Amino acid sequence: MMAWKSTFNLITIGCFLLQGSAMAQKPSKLKKYRARRNLTVSPEPRGGKQASSKNTLFVVQKHAASHLHYDVRLEIDGVLVSWAVPKGPAQSTRIKRLAIRTEDHPLEYATFEGVIPAGHYGGGTVMVWDIGKYENIKEKDGRLVPMKDCLKNGSIEVLLKGKKLYGTYALIKTARGWLLIKMREDGVRKKKSVVEKNKSALTGR
Ligand code: MN
Repeated sequence: MMAWKSTFNLITIGCFLLQGSAMAQKPSKLKKYRARRNLTVSPEPRGGKQASSKNTLFVVQKHAASHLHYDVRLEIDGVLVSWAVPKGPAQSTRIKRLAIRTEDHPLEYATFEGVIPAGHYGGGTVMVWDIGKYENIKEKDGRLVPMKDCLKNGSIEVLLKGKKLYGTYALIKTARGWLLIKMREDGVRKKKSVVEKNKSALTGR
């Protein structure tokens, strides 16, 4: 009886551990994101939303942290893959902008605007500067390269369809880090109206 009971206990513990690891595995991409924040104090989203079927959301958030910067985020494989771009996306093809890869963010972050408390990671105001869908345009031998592979290869080419940004941009990983580069406008229709640059793309504030 005792032997059976301890076997039963081992199985129970085993199941518990398995369950624990399965639960921990799903949001593993957000581990760093969550570890860096105290989400009981910061109003930022915890994450957990399922990926959309098309995986094409992009957002640029203006972040008045200790250093003002823009966070460029592309939905890839269920998370917002993120780069901090100190000067923001350039409007000219001649200008290359430094882009520092940061931790993946949850999809819900795309519509987050608010104030991260001072003294906390990223403390300062976050505003949605631009938001929209993007289209993967990276081709190799006449075929689209999946975004996941583009990211791995450090060679991303996308058409951003935002309210302020409408055009093709490349994110290229060089020996010295990532660069955000505006590509030539071949065949890309230009948007007529340009929304006021400093307002929120969500609320117009
Ligand atoms: Mn930031």
